[in-house]
Amino acid sequence: MPEKLTGLKIKNFILDTLFPISCLSCGAPDVWLCPECFSKIKILPDQVCPYCEKVFAETGAVCPACKISYLKKNDQPPLDSLVVAAKYADGNLARLVHAFKYNFVQDLSLPLGNLLVRAATVNDLPLPDLIVPVPLHPRRLRWRGFNQAERLADYLAQNLAPGMIIPIGKNIIRRRIYTPPQMKIKNYRERQKNLAGAFVINPPSPVLGRGAGSEGEGLQGKTILLVDDICTTGSTLLECARALKLGGAKKVHALVLARQEMGKKK
Ligand SMILES: [Zn+2]
Ligand SMILES: [Zn+2]
Repeated sequence: MPEKLTGLKIKNFILDTLFPISCLSCGAPDVWLCPECFSKIKILPDQVCPYCEKVFAETGAVCPACKISYLKKNDQPPLDSLVVAAKYADGNLARLVHAFKYNFVQDLSLPLGNLLVRAATVNDLPLPDLIVPVPLHPRRLRWRGFNQAERLADYLAQNLAPGMIIPIGKNIIRRRIYTPPQMKIKNYRERQKNLAGAFVINPPSPVLGRGAGSEGEGLQGKTILLVDDICTTGSTLLECARALKLGGAKKVHALVLARQEMGKKK
């Protein structure tokens, strides 16, 4: 075997030979996304309130009206803000995310992660104490082999604040209810009902013990950045945020690549 091939994963080698790498957008060789196509994906200049999705809200924060409606119920909005990086339909972003998620093109976590860093910076998101990727149900994780939100969280942990590595809580939340892939559930209410209580905080790990960073007890008073690839109705993020707040988190901000428009909330 030639020397330059040693260390290459056989699986990757075979994949690259069978399916040569080319820009998913324009077909330029050797990269999954060429710099030109990457520059066509624009960071969204405006964010809306994550609850009503109507009111323009700086940095994607909860609008006053939605905040009041929670307070009236003696409750707090679980999610403090939601920043959406780009438009789903922009510069073939939808296609890239699909390739990232279903065709296992994991190298795309670099440009996609970069979009998240830029959106976080533009929107002046507070520096989190902990980054939490939205978990997949273990069944789905086994099928897919990796959690795309985790790959994005890895990138953010290393690149959000230069010279600093932000801790990631990969096992803090657990998805305990298996839901069909969200694309199949179009109805907002049905989806919300399906997800109620779907996420719980994992108990402290008996193996890793205290301070290992993987247990829910480390949430107390912390500012969390919740990360996912695409948000549809937002109910997944909301339910995760609810679990994190119950676990003691002080603030939960969410960051996603894009919002997939479908059956709008009423
Ligand atoms: Zn291209
Ligand atoms: Zn609102």
